[in-house]
Amino acid sequence: MTASTARKIVGETATTYQNLIGGKWQPASDARTVDMVSPSDGQAFAKIARGTKADVDAAVKAARHAFEEGAWSKLTAVERGRLMTRLGEAILANHEELSQLEARDCGKPMKQARADITAAARYFEFYGGAADKVHGDTVPFLDGYMVTILREAKGVTGHIIPWNYPAQMFGRSLAPALAMGNAVVMKPAEDACVTPVRMAQLAQEVGFPPGALNVVTGIGEEAGAALASHPGIDFLSFTGSPEVGTLVQKAAAENHIGCTLELGGKSPQIVFEDADFDAAVPVVVNAIVQNGGQTCSAGSRVLVQKSIYEKFVALVVARFKLLRVGSHAMDLDCGPLISENQKRRVHGFIDRAKKDGIPVLAEAQIADGAPSGGFYVAPVLFGPVPRNNSLACDEVFGPVLSIIPFEDEADAVKLANSTEFGLVAGIWTRDGARQMRVAKKMRCGQVFVNGYGAGGGIELPFGGVKKSGHGREKGLEALHEFSHTKTIVFKHG
Ligand code: NAP
Ligand code: MG
Repeated sequence: MTASTARKIVGETATTYQNLIGGKWQPASDARTVDMVSPSDGQAFAKIARGTKADVDAAVKAARHAFEEGAWSKLTAVERGRLMTRLGEAILANHEELSQLEARDCGKPMKQARADITAAARYFEFYGGAADKVHGDTVPFLDGYMVTILREAKGVTGHIIPWNYPAQMFGRSLAPALAMGNAVVMKPAEDACVTPVRMAQLAQEVGFPPGALNVVTGIGEEAGAALASHPGIDFLSFTGSPEVGTLVQKAAAENHIGCTLELGGKSPQIVFEDADFDAAVPVVVNAIVQNGGQTCSAGSRVLVQKSIYEKFVALVVARFKLLRVGSHAMDLDCGPLISENQKRRVHGFIDRAKKDGIPVLAEAQIADGAPSGGFYVAPVLFGPVPRNNSLACDEVFGPVLSIIPFEDEADAVKLANSTEFGLVAGIWTRDGARQMRVAKKMRCGQVFVNGYGAGGGIELPFGGVKKSGHGREKGLEALHEFSHTKTIVFKHG
């Protein structure tokens, strides 16, 4: 790190990341900081600003100025798009540095961090190209009238993101908002947020005008709550837990603004008796192991038709036993979980399931050489899991996979739709008619047939129903979330 975001504090070895407010790098208004811990060894490696209500207020005011009268407000759509494309290029140009940063901050294996940085760049490429392609409309109306519909930015948008994919979330949440001309304020999660801060620095370097993109780091109950409830925000985008999602939606309601909520899931993979086992097994296992299971769209339930139960489960068990867990630098199948808290939470699920007598089918290994002090949890495969057990219904957010048998197609559909969540579903069958029937019956936002993308694809609209939240991110759909229409009626006689 070279520039002012990350100066070395005299007498300390840690790097301190500051807030970006109105184009200036600043410490928290009361100069407090939070230690950033690497999940791989539990050691602090940096400090971030512990953003205050005053910092959030300053960031919202800077964004308002940028949106209404600053240089940002004067850019054309094509100029905004160019800036975004340049940011995508800058992310790729700094790919290795950003990957190392993301891996250390989140504990994720290097290969996952590298894929995440590539995806972050893709968001800016995709939405940079789209910035000048969202057009309005004209409407046939009464004789003597001309009606035109403009699509306008919402204004100042607030973005609260989680710790599981900070780099990807920076792109997923901010890029469509910026493409439409909003000015943004982001509050990343205290457990992992240095890559978003570094990417904000790259945005500044490629020429984003002051106030267009602001980042305030810190604690959820402080900076996060201040952002969610700020009366100067026009729209909120939140990804995280259902509990905090409720608070954010209440805050939005107080200010009479809209919000998108992406709150996780309990996504099923349905394996029918005619599935291609060789294709399904590695994908099914990877969908729970990716990012240590800390993925909103993790395939955390595998529903297996009874007629093939023993045969299919044996293949999953064999693969599960080969999984290895280690530090981000060891770059194995699975890294540590994000924090001691998350490790405790996931162990709680595992211990309760064992106490409930649910059979453990396989447990993976923590590799020799994984540093002590890291937040490691070995992936566990349970089955058959009773349908009403917490493990079959609740989001674990860790590497714990539940196998549940089903009878026939109708039973599979009922079981798949039986949780409070509805984010993603996977269907494994060679029967084309069944693929379509079952896909249409899934109550969720994305369905994968004979594959599983774990939320994948920048181009693909993504989001949930039920407790998984509402609103859509990704794809061209996200541009509509971050804009609204204005109808103008001309009477010309
Ligand atoms: P969380 O508390 O919902 O955190 C998400 C974001 O909200 C973070 O930036 C957090 O900041 C912020 N936040 C926390 N309290 C807030 C408040 N009162 N007002 C406004 N913002 C606030 O999620 P978590 O504690 O990190 O994880 C808990 C569980 O949520 C996980 O175990 C998992 O089940 C689920 N989760 C889901 C997703 C997903 O992608 N759907 C992602 C993460 C977690 P701080 O982190 O700084 O407190
Ligand atoms: Mg961290």
